[in-house]
Amino acid sequence: MLKGTGASAGVGIGHALVVKEQVLDFSGVKFSGEAEEKQRLSAAAEQVSERLQAMATSMTEKVGAHAAEILSGQIMMLSDPFMMGQMEEQIAAGNTAEAAVDTVCQSFIAMFRSMEDEMMRQRATDIGDLRARLLKQLMGLDDIDLAQVPAGTVIIAKDFTPSMTVGISRENVVGIITEIGGRTSHSAILARALEIPAVLGIEGVADTIQNGDAIAMDGELGHVYVNPDERTLGDYKKRQEEFEQQRQMLKAYLNQPTVNADGTKVALYANIGKPEDAQAALEKGAEGIGLFRTEFLFMDRDSLPSEEEQMNAYRQVSALFAGKEVIIRTLDVGGDKEIPYLNMKKEENPFLGHRAIRYCLDTPETYMVQLRALLRAGADHKNIKIMLPLVTGLEEIRAAKAMLEKAKKELAAEGLPFDADAEVGIMIETPAASQIADLLAQEAAFFSIGTNDLTQYTLAVDRGNPDVAPLYTHFHPAVLRSIRHVIHAARNAGIPVGMCGEAAADPALIPLLLAWGLDEFSVSASAVLATRRTISLWSAQEADDVQAEAMALSSVKGIQGYLNSMIKK
Ligand code: PEP
Ligand code: MG
Repeated sequence: MLKGTGASAGVGIGHALVVKEQVLDFSGVKFSGEAEEKQRLSAAAEQVSERLQAMATSMTEKVGAHAAEILSGQIMMLSDPFMMGQMEEQIAAGNTAEAAVDTVCQSFIAMFRSMEDEMMRQRATDIGDLRARLLKQLMGLDDIDLAQVPAGTVIIAKDFTPSMTVGISRENVVGIITEIGGRTSHSAILARALEIPAVLGIEGVADTIQNGDAIAMDGELGHVYVNPDERTLGDYKKRQEEFEQQRQMLKAYLNQPTVNADGTKVALYANIGKPEDAQAALEKGAEGIGLFRTEFLFMDRDSLPSEEEQMNAYRQVSALFAGKEVIIRTLDVGGDKEIPYLNMKKEENPFLGHRAIRYCLDTPETYMVQLRALLRAGADHKNIKIMLPLVTGLEEIRAAKAMLEKAKKELAAEGLPFDADAEVGIMIETPAASQIADLLAQEAAFFSIGTNDLTQYTLAVDRGNPDVAPLYTHFHPAVLRSIRHVIHAARNAGIPVGMCGEAAADPALIPLLLAWGLDEFSVSASAVLATRRTISLWSAQEADDVQAEAMALSSVKGIQGYLNSMIKK
């Protein structure tokens, strides 16, 4: 089995077609005078622009405006006076149109590749695509026409570029496997928009897989079997059927409001760990971001991310979700989330230790960087809300807010734009916070219930210890009462309350959350549509009946059994 990045969910079974890159060798092209070369360049740019325009129109029809925006970006580059001007300068210096395109594009590619911002790095691929397009136009070479490939084809290529999408459809292409690209590359976005399973980033795959090889692939897990045995094939066929049935059923819930059976609206947001996840969340129908776990920005590196770096990451999500809420949680380190370079002390009880908001308040030099980055990132769209993790008392909220005020003063003095009105809310994930939810509501603009931790702290059960895993359950009446209490406290105080723990996506718990009046459900991107569906199946009356019945029961087993039996299929 080959393993890559699962970039577009679904199971693909078919035969490989290895798409080799065309060699774009223009070394034999002779310079035919400045005027002539400039004319060739502008004619090529115009033709490429027209083709791209036609592709964008067909893509908008096929998969929606969002995917077509990738092509609009390329069209815009073609009319960018700076880029085109540089090419003309190259020609004026005695180079052919081909050499001018190559030199200028390569320098832009190198520049964008070296940038920290993921969106900027993405541009490098787009310019590479544009370079190839212009060169092919100048050299009279045709694009590979994937419209002609037989049904059941799995495309194997170094990269999957926007040009390749032209003729492609799920009718003929059942899978895409590439050597480069990650979950957030344009190739991944395009594959998801086309709903073709894709596994990206398998090194050397265009050489290891041969034309005609049988392929079974899973675009979620990133698994690829080449010439699979009967059993694997049978297993993949079964999973393919199940996946398609589920996808078709849930599709009806995309671009729909999240309402219960009576038409009452609730908010349905997504949890993300990296800015790159935001795109998938949007595509899966998230109406906002309910939890951005910023600690992931601090992991897998050996020093703190700078204010600029953090700001870019937060801003990226803010821009993508402009007009929608983006709740960003400040650094939740410690416990199960270790960041080696912070040199945190080894503790006897890390889950009860110097972590999350406690650590941040005691490390102002680190925390201020994040607070400043958050305030600055919200300057354009004013949609970022700041959320504090692991709060146990009012003092923590007040201290964090005081630091925020200090950060605002600094930014104002430095003349940097920021969102002065960014709201500050808290996670409710400790029994203390739950107990004094009414008091915390005086200082917090909103609550989000973190059931992952609330369950572990309420039940005194380590959420990661397999030996006590059977005891770890949100169906314990203590956890349920706590959740109910927090929702009621928020409603009494008139502040919104959400849930961003995994429990928010549990179809057995959803009727209770609806009945108690939860305003916002924040779930992983892959659970958005299923959660929307579950919510739509419950009327207020039915949900209330179920919660009354469940809360009258006293054992975990009884409650869990009852609620599971009430799940609406
Ligand atoms: C939680 O505790 O429920 C939560 C959402 O936070 P995390 O899982 O990141 O601890
Ligand atoms: Mg937590």
